[in-house]
Order: sequence, then C-alpha cells, then structure tokens
Amino acid sequence: DSVVNRIAAGEVIQRPVSAVKELVENSLDAGSTSVNVAVKDGGLKLIQVSDDGHGIRYEDLPILCERHTTSKLSKYEDLLSIKSMGFRGEALASMTYVGHVMVTTITKGQLHGYRASYRDGVMENEPKACAAVKGTQIMVENLFYNMIARRKTLQNSSDDYTKIVDLLSRFAIHYTNVSFSCRKHGASRSDVHSIATSSRMDSIRTVYGVSVARNLIKIEASDNDSSTSLFAMDGFISNSNYVAKKTTMVLFINDRLVECSALKRAIEIVYAATLPKASKPFIYMSIVLPPEHVDVNVHPTKREVSLLNLEVIIEKIQSVVESKLRDSDE
Ligand code: ADP
Ligand code: MG
Repeated sequence: DSVVNRIAAGEVIQRPVSAVKELVENSLDAGSTSVNVAVKDGGLKLIQVSDDGHGIRYEDLPILCERHTTSKLSKYEDLLSIKSMGFRGEALASMTYVGHVMVTTITKGQLHGYRASYRDGVMENEPKACAAVKGTQIMVENLFYNMIARRKTLQNSSDDYTKIVDLLSRFAIHYTNVSFSCRKHGASRSDVHSIATSSRMDSIRTVYGVSVARNLIKIEASDNDSSTSLFAMDGFISNSNYVAKKTTMVLFINDRLVECSALKRAIEIVYAATLPKASKPFIYMSIVLPPEHVDVNVHPTKREVSLLNLEVIIEKIQSVVESKLRDSDE
C-alpha cells in the first residue's frame, strides 16, 4: 500500500541530509576513492552523488529499489558481524517512495553504462544504454514532493545544505584515502573539497581549517585484556586555545559515522573539569570494537548506537582524555 510505504520511507529518509548519508555510505561500500555530491535547493530539488566504485550489474537494476534488496547481507548471522554500512536494503527503496530516483552506472570491463529510473519501489522502464566512465551516479529529484507538510517545514529551514556540508566534512576526515567534494549544483566552487591524503591531520586542516587543526591533541587508547576485550580508540581533541560555542563530536565506530550521546556527554564533562577556562571541545574519535558489541540496528537511520560495555569504554576514554589534556595544559 503506497501510503504505508510512503510513511515508512519518510521515517528512513527524514531530511535531505539523511538521503545524502545513505547515498555516500553506498558509494563507500562500493569501494569508491572519489565521492562527489551536488545539491539544489538544500537537496529538495536535487541530490546527486557520483562515485567511482564497482558499479551495479545490469541484472541487478530491475530489483535495485525494491525493499530489502541488499547485496550486503545473505543470512541472519551476518547481522552479527556487519562490515559494510548498509544492510537493510531499505535506503534506495525508501527514496523512491518520497522522490524520483535515477541511477546511472557502469561495471568494470563494460563498454557503456546503463541508466534506469525508479518510483514507488519499481523500475519505470528498461534500463537504457548510455555513456559512463566509472562507477555510479544517483540522482534524487523532488524529495518529499508527495509529503506537502514535510516539504513546507524543510523549505522554511535553509540549513539543510549546511547539514550536508557538515556530513561530508565528517566523512572526509575519517576516510582519508577517499576524496570528497560537495557543492551547490551549478556552482564551480566546492564547499567541501578533500583530496585523498595519508595524514588525518592534513585532512582535518583541509576540511576544518588551520584554526582547528593547530589546536588539537592526539588521543589514543587500546585494551585487549579487560572485560571490554579488543577495543581501540584513536583521535584528536581540542586544547584550551580552541574556541567554539558548541561541541563538535565526529564519531566513527567500526568505520561507521554514528552518534553516542552518553559518550559525548562524558567527554564534555572531563573536558570542562580539566580545562575549566576552555570553551566547548572539538573531538574526532574512531573506535574499533568487535562487531557483535555494537548494536547499530536501533533505528532505521542508524545514527545513535548502543554498545556493550559502554560504561567501561567511557571510563577508559575519560581517563585518557583527562591525562592528555593535563599534559598539554602544563
Ligand atoms: P543497503 O546499502 O542496505 O544494501 P541500499 O538500499 O542502500 O541498501 O542499496 C541497495 C543496494 O544497491 C546495495 O546493496 C548495493 O548492492 C546497490 N548500490 C546502491 N548504491 C550503490 C553504489 N553507489 N555503487 C554500487 N552499488 C550500489
Ligand atoms: Mg545503503
């Protein structure tokens, strides 16, 4: 039933930035080294994500946007050890219920690519042969055209483009071997432009600027003998010279961009206690845990995660952060 499907889809894709996140994650899953985003009208008119990944096979195009079509999960047990970011096969399908989706793709060794368009979970007509260089380009047009209230709310808030730029900035500093760009459609200048580099510090400098990069302290922790079992964390936190009104916390767990409000709060607390005169912190943190300790299935948008042994992990991170901040403040 199309109304039910549309409501469900509106849950998965809540705003333009949620669509961009899903598309970029698909590009990363496809092994891309370059991901380029262009956006019109904050993403409501157009979202275009182009990559140079492995592409989509011709025979997979007809079912690509059916719900629960995923090439990433074959059996339930796989859920326990998900490596790639997608696993629900719901993102693309959802986009077709709340927008118009067009896919252009070419796989390795093919002479030409194919283009197909989708609506309400189905491919509209046979894929057409077309010129293509490498990888996949997905265009989502007129997002929420059939959800008047949602469209109105979003039209009045001009900050979705800002959210998209912020999202791409986060991906760019974690995936340092991938180049990212993000621009308004038609603009020659990119608002995020990262080139593949070997150094995290270089990419932070490129994306967030020198004023952030020069005020960062390296943090690191690992543990393989306590109850957390295999846990590794590395990242950066700002020193007392950094100034900001709001905390920026860029968190990747097992290479997935997530949020963990308990961890964020815990770090804000030690930060404020250790550097009482400092403003709010900038934090980039990458945590690696056994996949079965991470519950990423809490919500379709997969943002907030829950972790086994969260208290132990938080304590460990707090003590590392505290000692690094003290050292730097001396
Ligand atoms: P999921 O990522 O959970 O598998 P999606 O709805 O996001 O589900 O995508 C469905 C499928 O479409 C993916 O499993 C993948 O096979 C294919 N796909 C989507 N985007 C791309 C892309 N940029 N490059 C290659 N394959 C893609
Ligand atoms: Mg996906």
